[in-house]
Amino acid sequence: ATPLSIMVGTGKGAQAGILIRSAEALETAHSLDTVVLDKTGTITAGKPALTDIRTIGTITEDDLLVLVAAAEADSEHPLAAAVMAGARSRDLATATASGFDSITGKGVQATVNGHAVLVGTQRLLADAVIATSALDPIAAKFSAQGKTPILVAVDGRPAGVLAVADTIKDDSVAAIAALHRLGLDVVMITGDNARTAAAIARQVGIRRVLAEVLPEHKADEIRRLQAEGSRVGMVGDGINDAPALAQADIGLAIGTGTDVAIEAADITLISGSLTGVVTAIRLSRATMRNIR
Ligand code: ADP
Ligand code: MG
Repeated sequence: ATPLSIMVGTGKGAQAGILIRSAEALETAHSLDTVVLDKTGTITAGKPALTDIRTIGTITEDDLLVLVAAAEADSEHPLAAAVMAGARSRDLATATASGFDSITGKGVQATVNGHAVLVGTQRLLADAVIATSALDPIAAKFSAQGKTPILVAVDGRPAGVLAVADTIKDDSVAAIAALHRLGLDVVMITGDNARTAAAIARQVGIRRVLAEVLPEHKADEIRRLQAEGSRVGMVGDGINDAPALAQADIGLAIGTGTDVAIEAADITLISGSLTGVVTAIRLSRATMRNIR
């Protein structure tokens, strides 16, 4: 493209709240055929709330929540914030954890009131050789509703399941439909479990889902799509997404997301809405049309 058409395109982008880092990024965006969307914080608002608590055995819901909230106190994960806010709103006693450990992409463990508390995915409990058969049907029910189940073991025994739900951003459905109309394949990528991911994907009209992807493997999934011949745009907000944003042909960061994601991206969507992805691709196509 000519320097003038690039300037015009970049200027129009800025007016629409789309910051394009380079001429190359504006040019490349027209050739994308696949858009990979992170789930939490990108398709959804990323502000999950605690919705349900189910216990098994003798522990009460409140006692379970006290243990889990204490174990999550030092976690930076949005799910931890949801659990802590849920505990605060119920006016529960607070407990202090020791020996906190975060297991990336899976959950946390800590000792609370002398009890070993393990909180996170089915895989996390399975890795610790804790039988989850009593918790699995409860978790499956939450997942089918698009909620993220948080499994809890206390002293090596399954104790209950919490559910956390996030809301889909207002314009995610319309933006994904528009991407389909532009002829793009739309894929969801998430560390969340496959059932929850499938329920959210159904609600927003996405057919292809990559779920239970550990943070360090998101970039590998982009590389795999590229090896199949796809030209990939990746949209994400989290620290976890930064390597995938850098690997993609075009990385698009949600402007309300983390600085690390924004630094790794070629394009920043200031408003944080997915409509910005549609606008950016249209703008790139228009810019390239003008010069050929
Ligand atoms: P996402 O892509 O949804 O942001 P992550 O890779 O950060 O997911 O985490 C994957 C999954 O691991 C989460 O959906 C959740 O089930 C579990 N998990 C991670 N951190 C925590 C935590 N602090 N408390 C409970 N569960 C967690
Ligand atoms: Mg995210």
